[in-house]
Amino acid sequence: MLQITNLTTHYFFGGQVTPAARGVTLNLPKGSAMAIVGESGSGKSTVAMSVMRMIRPPIGDIAEGEIRIGGTDVTRATPRQMRELLRTQIGFVPQDPTTALDPLYTIRSQIVEAMPHVERARRDEVIVELLTSLGIVDAAARLKQHPHQFSGGMRQRVAIAIALAKEPQLLIADEPTTALDVTTQIGILRLLDRLRRERHLTTMFITHNIRVARLVCQDVAVMYGGVVVESGPLTVVADNPSHPYTRALLDASSLDVGPRQRLRAISGSPPSLTAMPPGCPFAPRCPSATDLCHQRMPATTRRPDGASYACWNPVTS
Ligand code: ATP
Ligand code: MG
Repeated sequence: MLQITNLTTHYFFGGQVTPAARGVTLNLPKGSAMAIVGESGSGKSTVAMSVMRMIRPPIGDIAEGEIRIGGTDVTRATPRQMRELLRTQIGFVPQDPTTALDPLYTIRSQIVEAMPHVERARRDEVIVELLTSLGIVDAAARLKQHPHQFSGGMRQRVAIAIALAKEPQLLIADEPTTALDVTTQIGILRLLDRLRRERHLTTMFITHNIRVARLVCQDVAVMYGGVVVESGPLTVVADNPSHPYTRALLDASSLDVGPRQRLRAISGSPPSLTAMPPGCPFAPRCPSATDLCHQRMPATTRRPDGASYACWNPVTS
């Protein structure tokens, strides 16, 4: 369904070329769900927006690689073809739900726009069902309301409803549940999982939290500094990571990070993409880095269990 091969995406900002994704290769068969995880600035949204061709000059551009959705190579698609693909096949839940909603229109009219395929007479019924399944109480009475009458968490759920209303083939959800409380998060994640199974929906799910990813995804790609450092079946990678960054990410994440729970942060800070060292992007923060790691980017190694990693000194457990 979605095949990304050797994708490199640049931003052009302040007269500089910033490589925010480098050599990204990912494969999402129909009906699969892949989590893209990694800390802030690792390039997760850049990959998602590249797939939707939302990064175009003067903001940036795809510098290299191929992205296939179904049979279409979107790197060669015209803006018109891309709009059609986005209208009919791709559901997108943006990282900031307010960008998905128009303050001037009612919730109903915004969802209706995404469902021309549903018979006029059945639309309200379908919308109410969708909103209810996303945990919005008394949805029928709220259809005529405007976004400002909804809380942040509810707006997020409406954004998810809009993305799902067109019954897309591919759902790209960028941190769709981070603004929500844990109970609602889990409810929505279960719903996404059910839709994947019932409708063979292919999902790209972006999150900081590898444990949250576990609730919806079978596969995972771990990004750092614009590079996929490890990928494969999620349980395999989460139970037995090879890359020290994946290990650190697992140690730092928990499903419920309440105010009392101290997150074990990864020490150091992410690299500057414009002044990237020649070797592994994680080397400056890596506990097991050697001279080689600072000098040369490791090639990708495939493990017999289906996971792949790019590291000179993989974790052994
Ligand atoms: P987050 O978890 O914070 O959403 P992310 O993994 O989605 O992070 P991206 O948004 O893909 O990260 O950003 C990757 C890098 O590209 C960052 O260093 C960011 O500063 C840079 N970047 C993002 N958008 C632009 C832009 N429009 N112009 C220039 N640089 C950008
Ligand atoms: Mg992002």
